[in-house]
Amino acid sequence: MGDNVVEAPNWPAPVAEVGEKTVFQRMFHFGTIFAFSTITMIGAVTTFFSLQWMPVNSYIGLFNTLAFLLWNYLTIGNLFNASFFGPGYVPRGWKPENKEHEKKLQFCVPCNGFKVPRSHHCSKCNRCCMKMDHHCPWINNCVGHRNHQYFLRFLFFSVVGCIHAVIIDGSAMYHAFFAGWYQRYGDGTEPIIFLTPISFVAVIFAFAMACAVALALTFLFITQLRYVIRNKNGIEDYIHGKSLNMRKILDEEDEEEVEWIRSLGEWKYPYDLGWKRNLSEVFIGIFDGRTKGNGTWWPVIKGCSQFTFTIDQLLQKQSKRGRARIVDIGEDFEGKCCSSRKFGWKIWMKQPIIDGKCLKVSEGETIIATRGVSGWVYGFRESDTRNKGWFPIAITNLKRNGDPKTEQTASSEEDVKTDDTLSSEEKKDQ
Ligand SMILES: [Zn+2]
Ligand SMILES: [Zn+2]
Repeated sequence: MGDNVVEAPNWPAPVAEVGEKTVFQRMFHFGTIFAFSTITMIGAVTTFFSLQWMPVNSYIGLFNTLAFLLWNYLTIGNLFNASFFGPGYVPRGWKPENKEHEKKLQFCVPCNGFKVPRSHHCSKCNRCCMKMDHHCPWINNCVGHRNHQYFLRFLFFSVVGCIHAVIIDGSAMYHAFFAGWYQRYGDGTEPIIFLTPISFVAVIFAFAMACAVALALTFLFITQLRYVIRNKNGIEDYIHGKSLNMRKILDEEDEEEVEWIRSLGEWKYPYDLGWKRNLSEVFIGIFDGRTKGNGTWWPVIKGCSQFTFTIDQLLQKQSKRGRARIVDIGEDFEGKCCSSRKFGWKIWMKQPIIDGKCLKVSEGETIIATRGVSGWVYGFRESDTRNKGWFPIAITNLKRNGDPKTEQTASSEEDVKTDDTLSSEEKKDQ
C-alpha cells in the first residue's frame, strides 16, 4: 500500500491558530463545566465506595483503586487537552502562496480567506477549523486536526473508566443491600458497606451516570474509530457521498447534463491511504498526543492531487444550483410543526426536522427548490436566499405535474444523509 501514497508537498502552510477565545472562556462554559463535574462526581463517589468494597490493605484492592484513579486522570487530562489545543484554526484572510491554487479552493466569506483542504467553517467558533470533525459542546471547541487524538483518547478512557465505575458501584450497592444477609450467613470476609441517605443517592446517581456515559461514548468511539481507519470524518463522508451521487446519470437527464456529468470523470476518495497508515496519521505514538501533518497539505493516494477534494466541493455547489427547480405554490403552508398534519399522517411523520426548519409559504409564490425527500421539498425565495426551509410537495405544482426529476434527485440524496452532523454541514454551505 505504501507506494500508492503521494506524500504531502512541502508548500508553505499557515500556522494553526488557537482562536480568539481565552482558556478561561473555553473552560467556563456550561458544556465543559458539566463534563468536568460529571467526571469528578463519578470519580469521587466511586473512589469512596471502592475503598470500602475492596480496601487498599490488599494488593488487589490497591491495584483496583489505583487503576480507577488512573482512568480518571487520563479522562480529565485528555478532555482538558482537547479543549485547550482546539482543532487548529485557519488564519483569517489566508491565501495560498501560489495564485494558481486560489481557484481550486473554496472561499470562506466570514473568515474572508480561502479554506485549506479538509477545513470547514464552524458557525459556533466563527472560524475555519482544520480537518474539522464536529463542534463538541462538552469541550466547547471544535474537534479537528490538532485535538483529534486527545478527543479519541478522552472517549476511550471515559468508556474504560465508566465500565470500571459501574462494576465498583454495582458491587458496592449489592453488598450494601444484602449487608444483613452477609452478617448472618457470610464467612466474615465480605465487605460491610453501610449506606446513609446521602451516600445512597450518590451511589445510585454515579452508577446511572456511568452507565449512560459508557453506552453513549462507546457508540461515539466506535463511530470515530471507523472513520479514522478510513481517514475520513462525518463531514467528509457526506461530501464523498455527494460526489458519488453527482456522477449518477438519471434516466430523465437531458443531453447537456449527461455531458457535464461525463466530464467530471471517475470519483476516488483521495485520503484513504490504507488502514495502517490512516491510523498512524492520527496516532503517532503512545506518549505523543499530536497528530501528523501541518493541517493544510495532506498525503493522498496516487492519481489524486491536493485539490481533488476541494474541486469536487466547488463542483457540488455548481451542480446544486444547476439542478434547482422553480416551483409554484398552490396552497398556504404555515411552516409550523403541526401545519402539515392535514396532508396525512405519513407526510407529517416524515417531516425532515433534524435537517432544518420548515418554510412558511403562501399561495401564488414562486420558490427555488434545491432538493427534497419523500413528500417534502427544500428551497428558498429568490428575494431572500438566506431563509431556507422545507414545505410539503403536495402544495406545489411538482405534485400535479408529477415531476419525477425532483423526486428522484431527492430520494438519492436522502440515501447519503445518515446523521445529524449533516444538517450542520448544510448550514456551513450557506
Ligand atoms: Zn471560515
Ligand atoms: Zn466549532
